[in-house]
Amino acid sequence: MAERTKYILDEADLPTQWYNVISDLPEPPPPPLHPGTREPVGPADLAPLFPQALIEQEVTTERYVDIPEEVLEVYRLWRPSPLFRARRLEKALGTPARIYYKYEGVSPVGSHKPNTAVPQAFYNAQEGVTRLTTETGAGQWGSALAFACAQFGLECEVWQVRASYDQKPYRKLMMETFGATVHPSPSELTESGRAILKQHPDSTGSLGIAISEAVEQAAQDPDTRYALGSVLNHVLLHQTIIGEEALRQFQLAGDTPDLLVGCTGGGSNFGGLAFPFLREKLAGRMDPVIRAVEPAACPSLTRGRYAYDFGDTAGLTPLLKMHTLGHDFIPDPIHAGGLRYHGMSPLISHIHELGLIEAIAIGQQECFSAGVRFARSEGIIPAPEPTHALAACIQEALRCKETGEEKVILTALCGHAHLDLPAYGAYLAGDMVDNELSDAVLAQSLATLP
Ligand SMILES: *Cc1c(COP(=O)(O)O)cnc(C)c1O
Repeated sequence: MAERTKYILDEADLPTQWYNVISDLPEPPPPPLHPGTREPVGPADLAPLFPQALIEQEVTTERYVDIPEEVLEVYRLWRPSPLFRARRLEKALGTPARIYYKYEGVSPVGSHKPNTAVPQAFYNAQEGVTRLTTETGAGQWGSALAFACAQFGLECEVWQVRASYDQKPYRKLMMETFGATVHPSPSELTESGRAILKQHPDSTGSLGIAISEAVEQAAQDPDTRYALGSVLNHVLLHQTIIGEEALRQFQLAGDTPDLLVGCTGGGSNFGGLAFPFLREKLAGRMDPVIRAVEPAACPSLTRGRYAYDFGDTAGLTPLLKMHTLGHDFIPDPIHAGGLRYHGMSPLISHIHELGLIEAIAIGQQECFSAGVRFARSEGIIPAPEPTHALAACIQEALRCKETGEEKVILTALCGHAHLDLPAYGAYLAGDMVDNELSDAVLAQSLATLP
């Protein structure tokens, strides 16, 4: 084959700025509200939880934010990440579509999460914070923060959703190897955890509960702050390194995407890939369709309500205007742990309301079928989350096969599955079911919106 299928940037071409999509939107997203007063939260409200630099990035209207040299140095351990053309998958599908994937599984923990964990740890360390708390579901975010804390000499304490803590011992060992302390959530260590355990002693936990526990701990100790792995504006800002690199790599490939697809849990890998392309679209330089893909069992964008809701279960966080299934929604235990959050990034929600992106939901069996197909042709076993994006790629590629359209599709392959293989085990054994969310359960959960 004459053409290159892997597009690699030199280290010297690593982008040195993150892109803030808010600067190019016709209107900014609605602000977070204080849960008591229902007034927009100010920097002072957030100071117990986040360092000043991140609070500023949360609200900045600047178009670009410089990436600190100390952060670039750590990024260079694995960045720039490769862009691949999935020629073998295209061939297996018999499609005239051209499929590209930006591979974030080359990071130290195997996902895109360190792109934000590293700057978050850096800014906290710079402001004299000594310990970070956080929640984690499948363990991708917890291991990313544990790695990042190790780079800047911070302690790291992680509340891991009980179901994953029990099912995924290797992630816990990875976090501990990087130096973190890991607790199953709900735990007896916090008010929020104890309250849940009192009502539901066998609770398997949720991201919302784990967030409550980590936030509660951080709020009580002046030397401790909290770190969130998705959802917030500053997280999506840091992830734009993915799309900025991909734009340069598309120049190398001499191609332009017609369709971007990405999986959405809290929206960070999707936003990170899509926002720089959205900038180009808004400027009229290209016109890709941008499509978010979520699990049918946790469909916040496609079936949730766009309303103010808490980010956590106990109601400790500010109210966020977002697509939500209700803050005490506990999704069925699907295998894509990173897509089990009840809400969606307010920025992604707002951009969806503006009609700039579309969203679809897919059941997990179709997703794992896509994951297996991808693994057998491209040689990478995708994490359960991006199998959702790959299923959407394959849907589109098969449509192109019927119409003969040579569509150019780009997706973020945001992680590999080396520590999630039991999920493939369940699929291969035929034990996987599709947990479609019923209207009755959804209505009940939405009734609790504040
Ligand atoms: C955390 C995670 C997700 C979901 O989070 P987003 O903020 O929506 O990106 C998806 N894929 C992987 C591999 C993850 O680790």
